[in-house]
Amino acid sequence: MGIKLYAMTCGHLTGDLGRLMEGGAGRITLPIPAYLIEHPKGMALFDSGMHPDCQNNPAARVGERIGDLFDFDYRAGEEISARLIAMGRDPARVDLLINSHLHFDHVGGNGLIHNATMLVQQREWEAGLDPDIAVPHGFNPRDFDVGHKRLLLDGEHDVFGDGSVICLPTYGHTPGHQSLRVRLDSGEVILAADSCYFCQTLRERRLPQRVHDRAAMRASLDRLAGLEAAGARIFFGHDPKFWQTVPQAPATIG
Ligand SMILES: [Zn+2]
Repeated sequence: MGIKLYAMTCGHLTGDLGRLMEGGAGRITLPIPAYLIEHPKGMALFDSGMHPDCQNNPAARVGERIGDLFDFDYRAGEEISARLIAMGRDPARVDLLINSHLHFDHVGGNGLIHNATMLVQQREWEAGLDPDIAVPHGFNPRDFDVGHKRLLLDGEHDVFGDGSVICLPTYGHTPGHQSLRVRLDSGEVILAADSCYFCQTLRERRLPQRVHDRAAMRASLDRLAGLEAAGARIFFGHDPKFWQTVPQAPATIG
């Protein structure tokens, strides 16, 4: 069937592990992943990394609070459009822009992908535009409400209609977080995004300090564990050790 999956790293953030995982100590440097999926019916991106303004003055872009939580290591050429161009793909020809959720390190590059239809869970989109939820979450409509045609999802969604790429609701981290299930020739891969930051999050159920809904997040982790037990490979959202094992574009993930 010939689906190809590519991983890209769109910069790094360094922050306190204790905020990201209960009981964690010290600082940790997180990769900021984005993925390209090539399907016979089109090209889809899963997340878009950070806005290029974060390369120069991140606090001006993401606000003082988030700017203080992380050290940004994000350079020209690491933004999603440059990553695509470097592998010979035209950002203007991406058909679908699937966002796991609306945090700045997942939608910041949306504005660089001009012609795609954005796929996001409806409940996430609504949260993004509701100041009572958006402000504490740090959702910034300037990142994601930038004029894309939208397909708002309610739960599971079969992206290409053949079961090969499926949006999986994994609520909890945010109101409408979703992961992506990709069926490769070698087996199933689950791009977990921030439903599961680290391998340890899944193994030891150590959640981040602040999440939108802890019970929902635990249920999502149970779901990921079930898929893993059935043979899927889980791709953790920001796990530096795991990320070292992931081939980077232009190499494909086999
Ligand atoms: Zn994230």
